[in-house]
Amino acid sequence: MEREKVDMIVSHLVERALHHSKGAPDFINIKVEKVKEDTILHLQALPVSTHTTKTPEEGRELIVEILTGQGIAHGRKIVDLIEQAFDLRGALLLNVDTMQRLDPDQQRGLRATNMDAIRQNRDSQDGITKNHYQEALVLATKVAHAPNIVGEICISDDPNYTTGYFASQATGYIRITHIKAMGSAKGGRIFLYRGNQEDVQRTINYLQKQYVLVEHIQELPRNSAVPAPLPDKWGWIETELFNLKQNHLFRKMQRLETAQRCLVHCHGQEKDILMLASNSYLGLTADERIITYTKQVMDIFGAGSGGSRMTTGNYPIHEMLESRLAEFKETEAAIVFNSGYVANLAILSSCCTKGDVIFSDELNHASIIDGCRLSGAEIIIYRHNDMRDLKEKTARYQGRRGVIVSDAVFSMDGDIVNLPELMRIADTYGFLSMIDEAHATGVIGRTGRGTVEHYGLQKNPDILMGTLSKAVGSEGGFVCGSRILVDFLRNKSRGFIFTTSLSPATMAASYKGLDIIASHPELVEKLQQNAAWFCEALRENGIGVYSETAIIPIVIGDAEKALRIAEKLFHQGYFISAIRYPTVKKGSERLRAAVMATHTKEELTRGAEVISQLLYEENVI
Ligand code: PLP
Repeated sequence: MEREKVDMIVSHLVERALHHSKGAPDFINIKVEKVKEDTILHLQALPVSTHTTKTPEEGRELIVEILTGQGIAHGRKIVDLIEQAFDLRGALLLNVDTMQRLDPDQQRGLRATNMDAIRQNRDSQDGITKNHYQEALVLATKVAHAPNIVGEICISDDPNYTTGYFASQATGYIRITHIKAMGSAKGGRIFLYRGNQEDVQRTINYLQKQYVLVEHIQELPRNSAVPAPLPDKWGWIETELFNLKQNHLFRKMQRLETAQRCLVHCHGQEKDILMLASNSYLGLTADERIITYTKQVMDIFGAGSGGSRMTTGNYPIHEMLESRLAEFKETEAAIVFNSGYVANLAILSSCCTKGDVIFSDELNHASIIDGCRLSGAEIIIYRHNDMRDLKEKTARYQGRRGVIVSDAVFSMDGDIVNLPELMRIADTYGFLSMIDEAHATGVIGRTGRGTVEHYGLQKNPDILMGTLSKAVGSEGGFVCGSRILVDFLRNKSRGFIFTTSLSPATMAASYKGLDIIASHPELVEKLQQNAAWFCEALRENGIGVYSETAIIPIVIGDAEKALRIAEKLFHQGYFISAIRYPTVKKGSERLRAAVMATHTKEELTRGAEVISQLLYEENVI
């Protein structure tokens, strides 16, 4: 912008501030800043519609209706609260569920700043003409895109302007022509917040600091009765992405250019790097024996299965794999699903329904959480691996039908469920016990048979679920259990019935992988030794870790830092993933190191040293 224009706009703004209808300012603070283009969020103006109301009462009634339509229960109380906003220079920030005020300075309220329109119409080209509608629409558009803001109510304080609005991403900008009496200088705004207390600061930061330019502001139609324009259907998605990036939660993928072995080549890297993030714990993903066998099966049965197992997609290899799994886990029967994720959805949604109850560990994997939700059952979360909490909670629900479900080895923490106690509690209160052995199969127990072997138990939990995608080195999920459980799942689970089955080649890879694990217990032993070695090496380098499994979490406690350390490690030749929210709780962001049986002790020792050096540089240790 040219220099003279800046002067002109500044003097105009001073003039406006000095003659504000809410009285003289305490101070005037004008900052002229040069802003980097890539820090500006560009937003499409909210679509505008107009409701002609005849009285202020009618206008406010309309807002109550809109709020109710948005699933907000306290509509009337919220509208009444606008009076409290009249004396504020900023807006009132209100939690619509608790009705608590969240604006930190309650004398002034919260101001949304750092926004402007990209000007298209001649009227406002100089940037100084006061245009209520345009100014309000710019502000409303910025506010509507703030994280956790579900709407805004505004009444103008200009005595000659009776039009107010309700705005949100869902409704667009709804002008309400008569929301106060002509001549009244009483106006104010409420930003409606819905979310956790700990996220409030993020919303405030966005409202106060985020630079926003609003585009495509439509001219106000002369005839207000024209139908509302279509909403901007991509706007909210762009905002979500922007917010992810701002909070270091945007996920990117590395491209691997070799098979997943302990040394891999990644796109753009000169040298191979050490894989310390893989779930292929036994290094079977690229095992020659598996590849040869898979090729043979593919030569005979082709690339795809061609249908659901129930219709045209059932092959001998599917049944062979299920028998092999049942034998390996010592159960009556087994059933294979297309992935571990699908297996959890399928089991929980077919074994539980509305009226049932599911007890779920607070750190269970997302697929269990989603399965619980899909079931419609009541979900009771118990504290992580806390059997006393579980016992207390289950006791309260005695007599109800339900399931207790837990990861066997927790996927981001690497600790092992207290299975003996979990099964005892389940039997005491008549609930089914279910464990997810995704990271236990091939990893724990002397011969890799999982949690039951680890604890030396005489019987299995009722539902023993697992994946073929980790130590087995292939893909797929499974359930091992009684014949009646498997018959039930085959007949009832939609995740089994309504999908094309895994290809014969994938089944063959799993079959051969299981065969290798069963006949080579020394592979499992090597993995366990490597994990113990790596933990010891990390501890010797000042990183306090402990794990009995192949997963070794190194907690950093900050998303940005975890990401930065992972990137530095990558450039120094180590592939370790930074795990952030929502995979782990905020504040417990971590590096998730995973050991393979095929790593050498030298590789692990050197890796521990490099990690330690970076943690030291980043003040983590
Ligand atoms: N259960 C747990 C505990 C997991 O860690 C995973 C991993 O992704 C799954 C289930 C899903 O398994 P899959 O990757 O085979 O879908």
